[in-house]
Amino acid sequence: MREPRSRRETRSAVLRYLWCSGGSFRPILADHLGLTDASISRIVSELKSEGLVEEAKRTAPYQGGPSSFLTLSNALHVGTMEFSGGRVHIGVGSLTGEIRFSEWLDLPDGAGPEGVKTTYRRALHQLADHLRRAGIGLRQLAVSIPGYHETLHANPIIALNPAELLAEIQAALPAVALLAANSIVTRAVAHRLKLGVDLPGGPYFYTFAGHGVAAALVDDFATSGDVAVCEIGHMVLDPRGPRCRCGHSGCLEAYVSTTAVAPAIGLREHDLLAMGGWQASRLKLSARARADLAARLVRLGHAIGNALNLTPIRRVVVAGWPAELGDDMHAGVLGGIEASLFGGAAAVNLTFAKAELGREPAAGLALATYAYLQRGAMRPTEAARDMAAHHLIERQGGGQ
Ligand SMILES: [Zn+2]
Repeated sequence: MREPRSRRETRSAVLRYLWCSGGSFRPILADHLGLTDASISRIVSELKSEGLVEEAKRTAPYQGGPSSFLTLSNALHVGTMEFSGGRVHIGVGSLTGEIRFSEWLDLPDGAGPEGVKTTYRRALHQLADHLRRAGIGLRQLAVSIPGYHETLHANPIIALNPAELLAEIQAALPAVALLAANSIVTRAVAHRLKLGVDLPGGPYFYTFAGHGVAAALVDDFATSGDVAVCEIGHMVLDPRGPRCRCGHSGCLEAYVSTTAVAPAIGLREHDLLAMGGWQASRLKLSARARADLAARLVRLGHAIGNALNLTPIRRVVVAGWPAELGDDMHAGVLGGIEASLFGGAAAVNLTFAKAELGREPAAGLALATYAYLQRGAMRPTEAARDMAAHHLIERQGGGQ
């Protein structure tokens, strides 16, 4: 891995390593990031003086080894507002992932602009109220919205204007740095965090099937940290198919979202969304329900295979209900990929990621922490200045 150069990059790399690893001894940190003892000392004392990291004595992993263990501080807080699963979730948590406050309000699909506005205003009021009472100042707030894209002024999934929402949040919480992101970015960041520091096997295609369906191309966090959104849920499989909440017909989401799947197998959607592995193993499905599920999984596979036709990535992670319902689901998805991916599924490495449903607001809080650490835990203006200066140096040094 290349050595980080600017002050922001170095701070960001150290903080993200501590976040993904859950803490580290100094020499291991220096080694992993390619930093000298001197620069690690300088950066750690800077981060400690700002209250971002803590250092405690720990039993060394080997005799004569290091004994000071660095972790992120759990005294700094981030917040989130997540639009997910027919609800608006709000939450406050520490940088280390401890949830301090969590609440949600119902926001049914198809709610009109006024209904959406009333709901998020109530949620925002509760969040601001909690922060005031608890005396907590947030370092970052992440807003997670399905179908969100910077260039879209009207959201195709939820009747809101993101710019207006962000302006209202900023007015209620004036000093807080804000980030808005597509829900799949939130899911992908929270999943990536669970994988820890190292990412063997390189970039992967992360697909989530829940109340919404989407995917993301996830690159190594430690270097670029890229998560590219792929609206696989709105890939049209049959223009004469069932109506989708985006306004089109026959989208993948209209076949494989929990809204479509739950009634087809005789469950309520919220029970399917709350289902863990042990419940899934006790689920008694009729032959007809099984056949119905299998057909939906093949469709999911078709869409994944079609998406892979546009990228060289062959590592696929599927999360959401297909993962919760167990390994039986594997063959259907793989069969679908086999039928649509150019050259077949032989080179595809398909795995299921469990326990990704119902992770609000933890996922939104992970996104907020990610955004904060990504800019080196600096004020947004300061981080932007550092980035601009650094790019200037890179340009001047170009061509060598
Ligand atoms: Zn759609």
